[in-house]
Amino acid sequence: MQEVVFDKRVQQLVNSLVSSGVKDLVPLYDTAYGYRYPFVEELLGLGPIETANLLEELAEKGVFRKSLYLRYVICPRCKSPDVAPLFKCQHCGSLGLRRRILTESKEGRIAEVGEEEEPFITQKGLRVVGMWFLCENCKKMSDEPNYAFLCRECGEEFTLREALLRDAYRYTLNEEFADILKESLMLYAPIRELLEERGFIVEAPGMLMGSSGVSHRFDFIAYRYKGGDRKVYALDVASRDAPIEEAEVISLFVKVFDVKPDKAILVAVPGATDRALKLAQSYGIEVVLGKDIEEAIKKLGEAIP
Ligand SMILES: [Zn+2]
Ligand SMILES: [Zn+2]
Repeated sequence: MQEVVFDKRVQQLVNSLVSSGVKDLVPLYDTAYGYRYPFVEELLGLGPIETANLLEELAEKGVFRKSLYLRYVICPRCKSPDVAPLFKCQHCGSLGLRRRILTESKEGRIAEVGEEEEPFITQKGLRVVGMWFLCENCKKMSDEPNYAFLCRECGEEFTLREALLRDAYRYTLNEEFADILKESLMLYAPIRELLEERGFIVEAPGMLMGSSGVSHRFDFIAYRYKGGDRKVYALDVASRDAPIEEAEVISLFVKVFDVKPDKAILVAVPGATDRALKLAQSYGIEVVLGKDIEEAIKKLGEAIP
């Protein structure tokens, strides 16, 4: 089982996305931080940078698919994302450019109109056949203006070549992960509850140091104190489409052999092969079988007095 499933923040975030039917986390623009994820920030009580780091981490772990949403411009001097585009005359650099539009009527009459006429072009049944920019300053025409940027924060003016560019990402929920999470929450939450009811202190997942000096991870480690006596149970859960095979038993045995808990339990849904069961018996691993989650929990209750 992936550890990320046990992360409370992940559970909260994925549950909230699934229940609201939202699959995409699309960043929103903010003049101070650039693009950020207010939905996630509010839900988890995190700041914008922590949130971005968390989403990055969850994309690496397969919870989200990450794709480029856009690249945006940052001021090279003060690093502010609050940047305005500038359109300049190709000839004199003036900002006083006006669009000029060439129109054609149904009868084939060609006419040049200014920006102020634009709202009426379709209304009058005219067709746009050309466009250029006229400079108020030098009176020359430009096909395309030159582009530049103005930082609203510090007033720096810069070109695209000088600009800093930053990436903003869209995070799309990996449906496969949402299913895994849903299933495991259905199984893991009741197991934890059961263990706690029986007086155990539960770590899920839990790490135990073996005699080899290696730490091993179990889905659950449960401690129970009676008098001065401490009992340690190690549990792994295997929930698949098909019965659990020997490999599952062997991988648990390798850890159990090193750690030597008082009891090792493998919870197997929807069951286990005969060979896997025999192997478990010879290894001293107790296998709790359930054809479904409900039955597995009931059987686990019987296995843990
Ligand atoms: Zn600036
Ligand atoms: Zn000009």
